[in-house]
Amino acid sequence: MSKQFGPEYVRAIAPYQAGKPISEVAREFGLDEANIVKLASNENPFGVPESAKQAMAQAAAELGRYPDANGYELKLALSKRYDVPMEWITLGNGSNDILEIAAHAFVEAGQSIVYSQYSFAVYALATQGVGARHIAVPAKAHGHDLDAMAAAIQDDTRLVFIANPNNPTGTFVKGAEIEAFLKKVPSHVVVVLDEAYNEFLSKEDQYESAAWVKQYPNLLVSRTFSKAYGLAGLRVGFGLAQPGITEMMNRIRQPFNVNSLAQAAAIAALNDKDFLDKSAQNNAAGYQQFVEAFEQMGLEYVPSHGNFVLVKVGNDLAAGARVNLALLKQGVIVRPVGNYGLPEWLRVSIGLPQENAILIAALQKALAGTRAE
Ligand SMILES: *Cc1c(COP(=O)(O)O)cnc(C)c1O
Repeated sequence: MSKQFGPEYVRAIAPYQAGKPISEVAREFGLDEANIVKLASNENPFGVPESAKQAMAQAAAELGRYPDANGYELKLALSKRYDVPMEWITLGNGSNDILEIAAHAFVEAGQSIVYSQYSFAVYALATQGVGARHIAVPAKAHGHDLDAMAAAIQDDTRLVFIANPNNPTGTFVKGAEIEAFLKKVPSHVVVVLDEAYNEFLSKEDQYESAAWVKQYPNLLVSRTFSKAYGLAGLRVGFGLAQPGITEMMNRIRQPFNVNSLAQAAAIAALNDKDFLDKSAQNNAAGYQQFVEAFEQMGLEYVPSHGNFVLVKVGNDLAAGARVNLALLKQGVIVRPVGNYGLPEWLRVSIGLPQENAILIAALQKALAGTRAE
């Protein structure tokens, strides 16, 4: 028998399953890449903003040098935007990095981390990666049950992950409820408020989490440039928190975790209000397009506040995998969520109108041709 390396808690990790890349689906199913529609990873269907492309072209000349380890220019821009001191900002290689850094900085092996059932898969990975114990709190209507999460906090709990809106379900908890939760949580427990989809929220749903950071020394707000800002491939996100948290994060963070192109592109994207507005409008229209189609098809879905929708494609435990395969054969990539304990559902990212239409037609065909009975 070959030797087993490393600790048991690392061996126990089920590796993250990402949305399939277009090239892989083309190879596997003998399709032309140009005809494939990918609505699997909640990316911005407009791609990289032009402003960010230009900023990167300029920054490319300096790639022989290390990036600014402190990310001065980007932090300055973020500091102005969110009205927090630069010293309260942690840049991440994607916000995934922020989540990982938080687990490493605040939790010892054996201590516990609280998060919700059906919440983002990376919370479980970050928990297991530090040998911590997870307390997964049953969801309420596919979303966070914050009262139950507050009640689930133990003496050894050091971290709580909340995704708002949540991925993969799209559920949203109102700002007032989050704030009530923050008031209840013991002050030594760090609350990570992961707002990867914040920019898609309607005006009424928006709340001032950056302002809460001033009030709650145990709050870490996490944001990303991967979704609404269209920079998923660059890997850049950030955390906002008081120095008690940020200085600990900075000890764990890799010195050059955000590369030069990413820093330059993020500044440009942050200032590109037109791109953000266009993306939010497209998203709202695409959501209506999906919702109307799902209702016509008699498919149950979870009302979403993000740039994706969770839709139920059958009643048996193989439904998600079966319909997913039927979609792949038609060149449409979506996200099966069996690994989240939702095997009857698929998560579909909102794309451009014509991409959404292709998905809807392919789904109709898939459902007609793949009955379980
Ligand atoms: C996509 C996503 C992230 C992380 O994305 P990055 O590309 O690493 O910034 C974080 N949280 C949630 C809930 C997400 O869906």
